[in-house]
Amino acid sequence: MTLHERASGRATHVRARYVVGADGVWSPTRRAVGIDVRGVERQGEYCRILFRADLDSLVGRRRCALYLVQTPHGPGAFIPTSRDGRWVLAFPWPDNEPLEWSAHHRLASLVRAAVGVSDVPLTILDVGTCSFSAAVAERFRHRDVFLVGDAAHRMTPSGGMGLNTAIHDAHNLAWKLAAVLHGWAREPLLDTYQAERRPVAERNVARSLGKHAELSGVAVDLGVVYATDEGKGATTLADATDDATQSARVGARCAARVAGERLGTDQHT
Ligand SMILES: Cc1cc2nc3c(=O)[nH]c(=O)nc-3n(C[C@H](O)[C@H](O)[C@H](O)COP(=O)(O)OP(=O)(O)OC[C@H]3O[C@@H](n4cnc5c(N)ncnc54)[C@H](O)[C@@H]3O)c2cc1C
Repeated sequence: MTLHERASGRATHVRARYVVGADGVWSPTRRAVGIDVRGVERQGEYCRILFRADLDSLVGRRRCALYLVQTPHGPGAFIPTSRDGRWVLAFPWPDNEPLEWSAHHRLASLVRAAVGVSDVPLTILDVGTCSFSAAVAERFRHRDVFLVGDAAHRMTPSGGMGLNTAIHDAHNLAWKLAAVLHGWAREPLLDTYQAERRPVAERNVARSLGKHAELSGVAVDLGVVYATDEGKGATTLADATDDATQSARVGARCAARVAGERLGTDQHT
């Protein structure tokens, strides 16, 4: 495989037994191996305005990840992007309505209305529209190439599950790759990655579209309870998250002490 560093143009040749595509929604890796995605391609249109303003006196120095507000266009969110006063305001935007970047005063008054202070000083830096999508890759593996994170599944920001799902993909795949590469396990173990993670992705993608409202909690987001045949009925969410309950069943924490002793660490498996 040849890696190209964009900044310097330098090319490096690498020989690798496996490739992990962790390259986001538009995953060049996924496209290179010809894996399609299935789901909802466009879910609503949103306007996002990047602006700079000193909002410290309103929100304090400690930042939340999101500030949910009511805007003149409906429910929206302020997202702090930096410590230098840059923020994004995102809110629903009617399909097909042109967005005029030149109409700075209109964008500024939209932001001020959402902030709730009619004369707050601010500078508009950028504006555009975007839509969200909710889809899952048909396969998470093609030969020796694996997809993790948004490369394997994309969801709407609703519920904030994209990164949580991605992290547990990486966790699930990483120890299996290590096990195979170190000779602790055989190659078919790697097939359990898709078997365990794709149902979680499908479930969370559906949840990001407002389905399965009865499901909630970090264990569900992460998908530490597997919905495979092996895992059916194996454990409860409480088992999965409760340190006091450790079973040796699929999807549960197990034998932390034994594994820790064997690996010379106190890590959980
Ligand atoms: C508005 C918004 C709010 C969100 N809120 C939450 C939340 O509250 N909780 C949550 O869990 N998730 C949230 N998410 C989702 C979360 O951001 C994503 O699910 C997560 O970032 C996916 O991580 P990833 O590593 O798979 O992909 P990415 O974060 O997209 O990383 C992919 C990386 O690959 C790089 N890359 C792509 N192509 C190449 C290439 N050819 N060569 C080299 N590098 C390449 C990209 O530059 C990028 O750095 C939110 C998303 C949005 C849009």
